[in-house]
Amino acid sequence: MSAASSRRIEELPSALERRSELLERIGDRGPVVFLDYDGTLTAIVDNPDDALMDGATRRVLAELASRCPVAVVSGRDLDDVREKVGVDGIYYAGSHGFDILEPGGRRHRRGTEYRPALERAGASLERAIGDVRGARVEAKAFALAVHFRQVEDPAAERRVADIVDEVASREPELKKTGGKKIFELRPAMRWDKGRAIRWILDTLRLPGDRVPVYVGDDMTDEDAFRALGEDGLGIVVEGETDRDTAADYSLPGPEEVRSFLELLVDAVREEAEAVLDGGERLPDGADAAPDGVGRRA
Ligand SMILES: [Mg+2]
Repeated sequence: MSAASSRRIEELPSALERRSELLERIGDRGPVVFLDYDGTLTAIVDNPDDALMDGATRRVLAELASRCPVAVVSGRDLDDVREKVGVDGIYYAGSHGFDILEPGGRRHRRGTEYRPALERAGASLERAIGDVRGARVEAKAFALAVHFRQVEDPAAERRVADIVDEVASREPELKKTGGKKIFELRPAMRWDKGRAIRWILDTLRLPGDRVPVYVGDDMTDEDAFRALGEDGLGIVVEGETDRDTAADYSLPGPEEVRSFLELLVDAVREEAEAVLDGGERLPDGADAAPDGVGRRA
Protein backbone atom coordinates (compact mmCIF):
# COMPACT_ATOMS: atom_id res chain seq x y z
CA MET A 1 0.00 0.00 0.00
CA SER A 2 2.04 2.86 -1.28
CA ALA A 3 -0.67 5.27 -0.30
CA ALA A 4 -0.33 8.55 1.48
CA SER A 5 0.87 7.11 4.76
CA SER A 6 4.49 7.77 5.41
CA ARG A 7 6.86 5.96 7.74
CA ARG A 8 10.50 6.09 8.67
CA ILE A 9 12.77 3.98 6.45
CA GLU A 10 14.17 2.19 9.51
CA GLU A 11 10.69 0.97 10.43
CA LEU A 12 10.08 -0.76 7.11
CA PRO A 13 10.35 -4.52 6.69
CA SER A 14 13.07 -5.85 4.40
CA ALA A 15 11.86 -6.76 0.90
CA LEU A 16 14.11 -9.83 0.99
CA GLU A 17 13.01 -11.05 4.40
CA ARG A 18 9.36 -10.59 3.43
CA ARG A 19 9.86 -12.15 0.02
CA SER A 20 6.93 -14.56 0.23
CA GLU A 21 4.50 -11.80 1.28
CA LEU A 22 5.77 -9.61 -1.50
CA LEU A 23 5.52 -12.31 -4.18
CA GLU A 24 2.05 -13.12 -2.95
CA ARG A 25 1.04 -9.50 -3.51
CA ILE A 26 2.31 -9.72 -7.08
CA GLY A 27 0.57 -13.06 -7.47
CA ASP A 28 -0.04 -14.28 -11.00
CA ARG A 29 -0.63 -10.76 -12.32
CA GLY A 30 3.07 -10.25 -12.88
CA PRO A 31 5.05 -7.07 -12.14
CA VAL A 32 6.12 -3.99 -14.07
CA VAL A 33 9.51 -3.15 -12.60
CA PHE A 34 10.75 0.45 -12.26
CA LEU A 35 14.28 1.09 -11.08
CA ASP A 36 16.19 4.20 -10.18
CA TYR A 37 19.88 4.11 -11.16
CA ASP A 38 22.26 5.91 -8.74
CA GLY A 39 22.20 4.46 -5.25
CA THR A 40 19.85 1.70 -6.44
CA LEU A 41 21.55 -0.20 -9.26
CA THR A 42 24.96 1.26 -8.40
CA ALA A 43 26.60 2.56 -5.26
CA ILE A 44 26.78 6.33 -4.71
CA VAL A 45 30.29 7.52 -5.56
CA ASP A 46 32.07 10.89 -5.45
CA ASN A 47 32.23 11.32 -9.20
CA PRO A 48 28.93 10.53 -10.98
CA ASP A 49 30.87 9.32 -14.05
CA ASP A 50 32.31 6.51 -11.93
CA ALA A 51 28.89 5.12 -10.96
CA LEU A 52 29.08 2.05 -13.17
CA MET A 53 26.72 -0.89 -13.03
CA ASP A 54 28.32 -4.29 -12.69
CA GLY A 55 27.93 -7.12 -15.18
CA ALA A 56 25.90 -9.33 -12.84
CA THR A 57 23.28 -6.61 -12.41
CA ARG A 58 23.21 -6.04 -16.17
CA ARG A 59 22.60 -9.75 -16.77
CA VAL A 60 19.77 -9.99 -14.27
CA LEU A 61 18.16 -6.84 -15.70
CA ALA A 62 18.28 -8.30 -19.21
CA GLU A 63 16.83 -11.57 -17.95
CA LEU A 64 14.05 -9.75 -16.11
CA ALA A 65 13.31 -7.61 -19.18
CA SER A 66 12.73 -10.78 -21.20
CA ARG A 67 9.98 -11.75 -18.76
CA CYS A 68 8.23 -8.53 -17.77
CA PRO A 69 8.28 -4.81 -18.59
CA VAL A 70 11.24 -2.99 -17.03
CA ALA A 71 12.02 0.74 -16.87
CA VAL A 72 15.03 2.60 -15.51
CA VAL A 73 13.98 6.02 -14.18
CA SER A 74 16.82 8.41 -13.41
CA GLY A 75 17.68 12.04 -12.83
CA ARG A 76 20.56 11.59 -15.27
CA ASP A 77 20.27 12.59 -18.88
CA LEU A 78 18.63 9.87 -20.92
CA ASP A 79 21.63 9.11 -23.13
CA ASP A 80 23.90 8.94 -20.10
CA VAL A 81 21.77 6.49 -18.13
CA ARG A 82 21.04 4.40 -21.23
CA GLU A 83 24.72 4.07 -21.98
CA LYS A 84 25.53 3.15 -18.38
CA VAL A 85 22.78 0.51 -18.12
CA GLY A 86 23.21 -0.84 -21.65
CA VAL A 87 20.26 -3.22 -21.68
CA ASP A 88 17.95 -3.40 -24.72
CA GLY A 89 14.22 -3.90 -24.59
CA ILE A 90 13.52 -1.68 -21.59
CA TYR A 91 12.15 1.81 -21.06
CA TYR A 92 14.57 4.56 -20.16
CA ALA A 93 13.27 7.66 -18.43
CA GLY A 94 15.99 10.30 -18.11
CA SER A 95 15.91 13.75 -16.52
CA HIS A 96 13.41 12.58 -13.87
CA GLY A 97 11.05 11.48 -16.62
CA PHE A 98 11.21 14.61 -18.80
CA ASP A 99 12.83 12.49 -21.51
CA ILE A 100 11.47 8.98 -22.11
CA LEU A 101 12.66 6.39 -24.62
CA GLU A 102 10.40 3.45 -25.37
CA PRO A 103 11.98 0.05 -26.08
CA GLY A 104 10.94 0.39 -29.73
CA GLY A 105 12.86 3.67 -30.08
CA ARG A 106 10.11 6.29 -29.73
CA ARG A 107 11.27 9.25 -27.69
CA HIS A 108 9.05 11.61 -25.71
CA ARG A 109 10.36 14.92 -24.40
CA ARG A 110 8.68 17.44 -22.16
CA GLY A 111 9.78 20.83 -20.94
CA THR A 112 11.93 21.89 -23.90
CA GLU A 113 10.39 25.39 -23.62
CA TYR A 114 12.23 25.84 -20.31
CA ARG A 115 15.66 25.66 -21.96
CA PRO A 116 16.26 29.47 -22.09
CA ALA A 117 15.60 29.80 -18.36
CA LEU A 118 17.93 26.85 -17.70
CA GLU A 119 20.65 28.45 -19.78
CA ARG A 120 20.36 31.80 -17.97
CA ALA A 121 20.40 30.12 -14.56
CA GLY A 122 23.30 27.91 -15.60
CA ALA A 123 25.43 30.92 -16.51
CA SER A 124 24.62 32.63 -13.20
CA LEU A 125 25.43 29.51 -11.20
CA GLU A 126 28.73 28.98 -13.01
CA ARG A 127 29.76 32.56 -12.18
CA ALA A 128 28.76 32.41 -8.52
CA ILE A 129 29.82 28.88 -7.65
CA GLY A 130 33.06 28.87 -9.60
CA ASP A 131 35.05 29.93 -6.56
CA VAL A 132 33.53 27.50 -4.06
CA ARG A 133 36.07 24.74 -3.68
CA GLY A 134 34.61 21.28 -4.39
CA ALA A 135 31.29 22.50 -5.79
CA ARG A 136 30.44 21.84 -9.41
CA VAL A 137 27.63 22.89 -11.75
CA GLU A 138 26.43 20.32 -14.25
CA ALA A 139 24.21 21.49 -17.11
CA LYS A 140 21.93 18.58 -17.85
CA ALA A 141 19.38 18.30 -20.64
CA PHE A 142 16.41 19.32 -18.48
CA ALA A 143 18.00 20.51 -15.25
CA LEU A 144 20.97 22.18 -13.64
CA ALA A 145 22.66 20.10 -11.00
CA VAL A 146 24.92 21.62 -8.35
CA HIS A 147 27.07 18.90 -6.80
CA PHE A 148 28.58 19.61 -3.41
CA ARG A 149 29.59 16.16 -2.13
CA GLN A 150 33.21 17.25 -2.26
CA VAL A 151 32.67 20.53 -0.40
CA GLU A 152 34.29 20.01 3.00
CA ASP A 153 33.55 23.26 4.79
CA PRO A 154 29.99 23.58 6.22
CA ALA A 155 30.06 27.36 5.68
CA ALA A 156 30.86 26.80 2.01
CA GLU A 157 28.01 24.30 1.83
CA ARG A 158 25.61 26.97 3.14
CA ARG A 159 26.99 29.43 0.62
CA VAL A 160 26.21 26.99 -2.19
CA ALA A 161 22.65 26.65 -0.87
CA ASP A 162 22.26 30.44 -0.71
CA ILE A 163 23.54 30.90 -4.25
CA VAL A 164 21.14 28.27 -5.60
CA ASP A 165 18.23 29.90 -3.72
CA GLU A 166 19.17 33.30 -5.06
CA VAL A 167 19.37 32.12 -8.68
CA ALA A 168 16.11 30.18 -8.28
CA SER A 169 14.35 33.28 -6.97
CA ARG A 170 15.20 35.11 -10.20
CA GLU A 171 13.84 32.33 -12.43
CA PRO A 172 10.19 31.63 -11.65
CA GLU A 173 10.08 29.10 -14.48
CA LEU A 174 12.47 26.89 -12.51
CA LYS A 175 12.12 25.19 -9.16
CA LYS A 176 14.75 23.98 -6.75
CA THR A 177 14.83 20.37 -5.66
CA GLY A 178 17.40 18.46 -3.70
CA GLY A 179 18.98 15.05 -3.48
CA LYS A 180 22.03 13.43 -1.97
CA LYS A 181 24.59 16.25 -1.81
CA ILE A 182 23.04 17.81 -4.86
CA PHE A 183 20.75 20.73 -5.59
CA GLU A 184 18.83 20.87 -8.81
CA LEU A 185 16.98 23.56 -10.71
CA ARG A 186 14.30 21.97 -12.82
CA PRO A 187 11.41 23.20 -14.98
CA ALA A 188 8.60 24.25 -12.66
CA MET A 189 6.09 22.09 -14.43
CA ARG A 190 3.96 19.40 -12.92
CA TRP A 191 6.08 16.50 -14.04
CA ASP A 192 8.19 14.15 -11.95
CA LYS A 193 9.18 10.50 -11.65
CA GLY A 194 5.70 9.66 -10.36
CA ARG A 195 3.93 11.16 -13.37
CA ALA A 196 6.52 9.54 -15.65
CA ILE A 197 5.81 6.06 -14.32
CA ARG A 198 2.04 6.60 -14.60
CA TRP A 199 2.60 7.70 -18.19
CA ILE A 200 4.69 4.58 -18.90
CA LEU A 201 2.03 2.36 -17.33
CA ASP A 202 -0.61 4.01 -19.55
CA THR A 203 1.60 3.70 -22.63
CA LEU A 204 2.21 0.01 -22.02
CA ARG A 205 -1.53 -0.68 -22.30
CA LEU A 206 -0.89 -3.92 -20.51
CA PRO A 207 -3.29 -6.76 -20.77
CA GLY A 208 -4.64 -7.55 -17.35
CA ASP A 209 -3.65 -5.69 -14.29
CA ARG A 210 0.03 -5.88 -13.52
CA VAL A 211 1.58 -4.81 -10.26
CA PRO A 212 3.94 -1.82 -10.47
CA VAL A 213 7.09 -2.28 -8.42
CA TYR A 214 9.40 0.70 -7.86
CA VAL A 215 12.86 0.58 -6.30
CA GLY A 216 14.70 3.83 -5.52
CA ASP A 217 16.76 5.56 -2.87
CA ASP A 218 16.31 9.30 -3.20
CA MET A 219 13.78 12.05 -2.46
CA THR A 220 12.75 12.23 -6.13
CA ASP A 221 11.74 8.56 -5.92
CA GLU A 222 9.14 9.46 -3.29
CA ASP A 223 6.97 10.95 -6.07
CA ALA A 224 7.08 7.53 -7.70
CA PHE A 225 6.24 5.66 -4.48
CA ARG A 226 3.20 7.90 -4.04
CA ALA A 227 2.15 7.39 -7.67
CA LEU A 228 2.14 3.59 -7.46
CA GLY A 229 -1.41 3.32 -6.23
CA GLU A 230 -2.52 0.96 -3.56
CA ASP A 231 -1.65 -2.18 -5.51
CA GLY A 232 1.91 -1.06 -6.16
CA LEU A 233 4.99 -2.04 -4.22
CA GLY A 234 7.42 0.68 -3.22
CA ILE A 235 10.87 -0.39 -2.10
CA VAL A 236 13.26 2.20 -0.74
CA VAL A 237 17.02 1.64 -0.73
CA GLU A 238 18.52 2.77 2.55
CA GLY A 239 20.87 5.73 2.43
CA GLU A 240 23.16 7.55 4.82
CA THR A 241 20.34 8.87 6.99
CA ASP A 242 16.88 7.76 8.08
CA ARG A 243 13.93 9.80 6.78
CA ASP A 244 10.23 9.61 6.01
CA THR A 245 9.19 7.54 3.03
CA ALA A 246 6.03 6.44 1.23
CA ALA A 247 7.61 3.06 0.38
CA ASP A 248 6.40 -0.25 1.86
CA TYR A 249 9.65 -2.19 2.09
CA SER A 250 13.35 -1.46 2.24
CA LEU A 251 16.61 -2.91 0.96
CA PRO A 252 20.04 -2.08 2.42
CA GLY A 253 21.89 -1.32 -0.83
CA PRO A 254 22.53 -2.07 -4.51
CA GLU A 255 23.75 -5.62 -3.84
CA GLU A 256 20.48 -6.50 -2.17
CA VAL A 257 18.61 -4.80 -5.03
CA ARG A 258 20.32 -7.27 -7.36
CA SER A 259 19.28 -10.18 -5.11
CA PHE A 260 15.75 -8.85 -5.17
CA LEU A 261 15.79 -8.67 -8.99
CA GLU A 262 17.05 -12.27 -9.10
CA LEU A 263 14.13 -13.20 -6.89
CA LEU A 264 11.73 -11.51 -9.32
CA VAL A 265 13.30 -13.29 -12.29
CA ASP A 266 12.66 -16.61 -10.59
CA ALA A 267 9.14 -15.62 -9.64
CA VAL A 268 7.99 -14.29 -12.98
CA ARG A 269 7.41 -17.26 -15.21
CA GLU A 270 5.28 -15.63 -17.81
CA GLU A 271 6.85 -14.40 -20.97
CA ALA A 272 6.45 -10.69 -21.51
CA GLU A 273 3.55 -10.20 -23.86
CA ALA A 274 3.69 -8.28 -27.06
CA VAL A 275 3.95 -5.02 -25.12
CA LEU A 276 7.69 -4.99 -25.48
CA ASP A 277 8.47 -5.20 -29.16
CA GLY A 278 12.08 -5.97 -28.44
CA GLY A 279 12.93 -6.48 -32.10
CA GLU A 280 13.31 -2.80 -32.85
CA ARG A 281 16.43 -1.11 -31.68
CA LEU A 282 17.36 2.51 -31.79
CA PRO A 283 20.65 2.83 -33.70
CA ASP A 284 23.46 4.28 -31.63
CA GLY A 285 23.32 8.04 -31.54
CA ALA A 286 19.99 8.17 -33.35
CA ASP A 287 17.57 10.77 -32.15
CA ALA A 288 13.99 9.72 -32.74
CA ALA A 289 11.34 12.31 -33.51
CA PRO A 290 10.05 13.81 -30.26
CA ASP A 291 6.49 12.71 -30.79
CA GLY A 292 4.03 13.13 -27.99
CA VAL A 293 5.95 16.09 -26.63
CA GLY A 294 2.88 18.27 -26.54
CA ARG A 295 1.31 16.12 -23.89
CA ARG A 296 1.66 18.04 -20.65
CA ALA A 297 0.38 17.19 -17.26
MG1 LIG B 1 19.04 7.38 -6.71
